[in-house]
Amino acid sequence: MVSTEAISDADETLQFELRTNVARLSDAQRTEVLGHPGFGQHFTDHMARVSWTADQGWYDARVEPYGPLPLDPSAAVLHYAQEIFEGLKAYRWDDGSVRCFRPEVNAERFARSAERMALPVLPERVFLDALSALVAADEPWVPSGGENSLYLRPFMFASEAFLGVRAARTVDFLVIASPAGPYFPSGVKPVSIWLARQLTRAGRGGMGAAKTGGNYASSLLAQGEAADHGCQQVVFLDEAEGRWVEELGGMNVFFVHADGTLVTPALTGTILEGVTRRSVL
Ligand SMILES: *Cc1c(COP(=O)(O)O)cnc(C)c1O
Repeated sequence: MVSTEAISDADETLQFELRTNVARLSDAQRTEVLGHPGFGQHFTDHMARVSWTADQGWYDARVEPYGPLPLDPSAAVLHYAQEIFEGLKAYRWDDGSVRCFRPEVNAERFARSAERMALPVLPERVFLDALSALVAADEPWVPSGGENSLYLRPFMFASEAFLGVRAARTVDFLVIASPAGPYFPSGVKPVSIWLARQLTRAGRGGMGAAKTGGNYASSLLAQGEAADHGCQQVVFLDEAEGRWVEELGGMNVFFVHADGTLVTPALTGTILEGVTRRSVL
């Protein structure tokens, strides 16, 4: 039996072990993919991973070959959606080095999302080390030039094989990476936004402020409604009065008034606090 303090000390010093992918793509194959990366379609040779159980805490930090996860059909995440994620990018600078923009803010948000979804909090140091370890292993996958980047997707989910409704006692944390081209391939153009009148995204006391898949699942119907009306995005109103603009399905919103004032909805618990939002403010 170890004390909680001993566990958290150990967590802070987890070392990522590299288990090299012997079947990784050749330089030519990788160059081919990097020529037309698209978004979220191609993945690098490795993934970072840390396991957790209620008894052991975080353990077995490793970078291993990218590939399918064996998952028990009763894994809690498949039934009760106990999961969270993050999204950020690694960029290659002109001097050849690779950097992320304020990854510690993503680490903090990940910890807050974990608390809301009754998942174990991953120490911020381990979150950042996982990003570094994966980017180091797959460094040739970081594109250079223009707005190209390597999109990093950290996520955590309830992998315990158990249908009872309670916080899972077995959890997995992973980071996968996917090369990405510019967000607007044909240049920045205005998009049309559909105002959802019936459907809302999050309510008071709910999980709107957590970066969790369920918020995306609940936005898809409205996103489809938007597409049916020729709009690229949907904007949601508050659930209580249906009067206040909150945010889009997957991004925060700002208004620029004619007098130059910048306005964005306050964080009331139903809005996801964006790193972009915080940085702009
Ligand atoms: C991730 C997310 C944001 C903000 O993203 P950043 O990249 O951190 O600016 C805003 N809204 C929703 C619903 C999100 O999931």
